[in-house]
Amino acid sequence: MAAKGENVIKLALFCSVCKRRNYITTRNKVNTLDKLKLNKFCNHCRKVTEHKETEKLK
Ligand SMILES: [Zn+2]
Repeated sequence: MAAKGENVIKLALFCSVCKRRNYITTRNKVNTLDKLKLNKFCNHCRKVTEHKETEKLK
């Protein structure tokens, strides 16, 4: 019996332009196999940029 939450990993999203971590999110590794790539607003670039996920956070 899998423990609740075991398949959900916590990760950060970083701006592909300035490389800053702007968002913390979670991903269910069972339902979502692909790495996340989202267009989000970056406060540092002051525009919408492509954000990619980092390695799993602890
Ligand atoms: Zn940025």
